[in-house]
Amino acid sequence: MTPRFDDEPPATWRARYDGTCAADCGFRIHPGDMVQRVDGQLVHHGCIPEEQPEPEPRPVCPTCHMEIALNGACSC
Ligand SMILES: [Zn+2]
Ligand SMILES: [Zn+2]
Repeated sequence: MTPRFDDEPPATWRARYDGTCAADCGFRIHPGDMVQRVDGQLVHHGCIPEEQPEPEPRPVCPTCHMEIALNGACSC
C-alpha cells in the first residue's frame, strides 16, 4: 500500500472533456466517464493502451557509433 498524499492526483477521475481512448477500445471518452492515465496516455478506467512495439534496434556504424539509417548509408 503506497501512502497517498493530498496533492497527488488521483489514479482515476471523471473526464471533463470528450476524448479518444488510447486503448483503441472503440469507445470515445465522454464527460463523466471514469478515466485514467497509463504511460501518459488517457484511457478509460480499466482500459489498457495498446502496447507500442519496441522499435527494431538499428545497426550502429563502427566508425562514428551513430545509428545507421534504414537505407544502410552512414553520413560520416
Ligand atoms: Zn477505452
Ligand atoms: Zn558513421
